[in-house]
Amino acid sequence: MSFVERARKSVRWRADAARDKVAEARALSERTVISRTAGRTAPTSRILCYHTVGMPEMGINDITLRRLEQQLAHARNVGYRFVPAMELVDDAVAGPSGSNDPADLRLALTFDDGFRSILTTVAPLLKSLDIPWTAFVVSGFADGRGRNGYDDFLDWREIEKLADDGVTIASHSVTHPNFSTLSPGEIVAELAESREALRLNLGIDSTEFAIPFGQSGNWPAEAQAAAAQAGYRTVYAQSVERRPAGTVARTFVTKFDDERIFRAALAGAFDRWEEWF
Ligand SMILES: [Zn+2]
Repeated sequence: MSFVERARKSVRWRADAARDKVAEARALSERTVISRTAGRTAPTSRILCYHTVGMPEMGINDITLRRLEQQLAHARNVGYRFVPAMELVDDAVAGPSGSNDPADLRLALTFDDGFRSILTTVAPLLKSLDIPWTAFVVSGFADGRGRNGYDDFLDWREIEKLADDGVTIASHSVTHPNFSTLSPGEIVAELAESREALRLNLGIDSTEFAIPFGQSGNWPAEAQAAAAQAGYRTVYAQSVERRPAGTVARTFVTKFDDERIFRAALAGAFDRWEEWF
């Protein structure tokens, strides 16, 4: 199946504004209620998933720069040190929510999709704070293909700037599809072609893949097997408790996450929660 045919199957971010509004309202209400009823539990090591910063048109997955700064300051205040995501992978695969050693709280930051704000806003901030991070990029978007009208994705030269600056660059597919809608051949193509694109355009031999949308329903068992076949050793998902077998949990951060919600997220209040579209 051609790129264009696969791209047609990929879910558009703004394809259905009414549904987006419902999803946002539901997320706000769930995150507020869960954070209020979570009780007091201690923070644990975990891998956070962000998307854009200061791009409010992106909806639920966008946060302001000020809020990101506050979250990082809060994390430092409660004793976290920031590490590359790979440092937490073994614990995250084995345990329910990563390492739970309270004397060694570690936090890893990842940013999905390769939107422009990771270069213009995230990179300068995290560099100034000496915090390592990972960007999961969509190879077709970096090629300038299948962007669905968006001009906001980084191209390969811009992604290369991040890589040169020490940011870990890894794969987030070719067209950002929902893998549960793909044929076995399409699954293989999305995994293999995006990995090859990182090698051709950046000289990076990545073994890390983040599932587009990241929800449990977006990743059939055959995709996990195909990812290993394509050379990936680590597949990042979403919810700690609902993630597919063999994948690594991440904790998603949404635009609704004020300090109370963020604190609850660090303590695992959303380990059963998934974004909903
Ligand atoms: Zn994504």
